[in-house]
Amino acid sequence: MKRVAILGGGPAGAFAAERLAGAGLHVSLFDEKLAWEKPCGGGLTYKAYSQYPFLIENSTPKRFITETVLSAPPAGEASLQLDDPLVIYSRFDLNRMLLERAEHAGARIEKAHVTAITRQGAAWQVRTNTGVADADFCIVATGARNGLRQMGTELKPEDTMTALGYYVPGEQTRIDIQFLPKLEGYIWIFPRCGHLSVGICGKGEPAGTLRKRLERFMQDRGLSFQGARFYSHLLPSLHSASWQTNRVGGEGWLAVGDAAGLVDPITGEGLYYALRSADLAARALLSDVSSLAEKVNQYRRSLQKDFASDLEFGSRLAKRVFHGRFLLRSVPARMVQFTRRSPRFSTIMQDLFAGRQSYRELKRRLLRGLNCSLYEIAMSFGLRRVVPRQAGAK
Ligand SMILES: Cc1cc2nc3c(=O)[nH]c(=O)nc-3n(C[C@H](O)[C@H](O)[C@H](O)COP(=O)(O)OP(=O)(O)OC[C@H]3O[C@@H](n4cnc5c(N)ncnc54)[C@H](O)[C@@H]3O)c2cc1C
Repeated sequence: MKRVAILGGGPAGAFAAERLAGAGLHVSLFDEKLAWEKPCGGGLTYKAYSQYPFLIENSTPKRFITETVLSAPPAGEASLQLDDPLVIYSRFDLNRMLLERAEHAGARIEKAHVTAITRQGAAWQVRTNTGVADADFCIVATGARNGLRQMGTELKPEDTMTALGYYVPGEQTRIDIQFLPKLEGYIWIFPRCGHLSVGICGKGEPAGTLRKRLERFMQDRGLSFQGARFYSHLLPSLHSASWQTNRVGGEGWLAVGDAAGLVDPITGEGLYYALRSADLAARALLSDVSSLAEKVNQYRRSLQKDFASDLEFGSRLAKRVFHGRFLLRSVPARMVQFTRRSPRFSTIMQDLFAGRQSYRELKRRLLRGLNCSLYEIAMSFGLRRVVPRQAGAK
């Protein structure tokens, strides 16, 4: 296998191209837009830049944000100080940087719309609006709106969130996250260089209703629509059963990033998983095993081991996080209250934001710390004299 065609040049495709071209393969990447402002918050967690330090060690414009304010009516707000900041890029800048890195590593980058791919014996023929190319292997990185039906995740309505918002002229130094009643999703304000990305994501709710919720929020916050640019897109959010049948590879192809449904079903974080899956796909293709079928299996196994099983676990938690109740209040309201009043709980939230806390371990950690958190909350209400000190509480 020498010639690899990469279909789609977002973060997943560009990073796969960089890795494979850097190892000496003949890589052709096709993207219909190349660098563009893909609808996205553009936020990268500590988990992403600690594994791929080039994401912060570069001269591309970006913001480092160390404060997040969580709110959930009627619980009010809680401020979370992030030891490890969230890094926020415009997607145009991030995509351009990743494509430049791929080109520098030796990949051939072409602005072209892939219209069809067909298997010809053991090879592929890639048809684009500009011509035809042959390849021994294909990497499908066409994102959530993958039009190549026979390859990549088959997204059913229950496997997606709608995400929409506005790029608003303005400036702030903190991130805002607001939970809303009866919404499996949330509203965000991400400060970027020169503007804010204000958006909402939600599962099972029509786009029009989400847009109304967001516009009400923006009015309440005094965010102006003047000069604001609307965006909307699809966000994979696989249902727990869909993880079992997820189509991430087949004869002569692998899917990476959104095209493989690899997005956190609770937070909507997809950039890290796009890069990570591209990395794992490249490693599988470059591995010593000679058969292509075994390389595909190796990719499946490494995805599962690395993060997919945790995302699957997260998909089972999602409903409880957004719609569940705890101590007679909604879970988001309790999350905000606990973050405000319990340093121990606040640390857990920080770890979740940084991507250091897996969903599998979360329940155990929450239960282990619950007594101490409740004690800290009681103390914060000034009940020091009536609540006896818990063993182990600091
Ligand atoms: C509103 C919103 C906010 C988000 N915020 C965040 C966030 O803050 N942090 C985070 O981690 N994740 C976020 N995500 C998720 C993140 O945007 C995606 O997970 C990420 O872009 C996936 O990268 P990708 O390379 O797989 O796909 P994409 O970035 O979608 O790239 C796919 C590429 O394929 C190209 N393409 C598609 N079809 C064809 C074709 N037929 N021919 C040629 N080219 C084609 C497209 O032009 C595109 O460039 C957000 C998503 C949305 C919708």
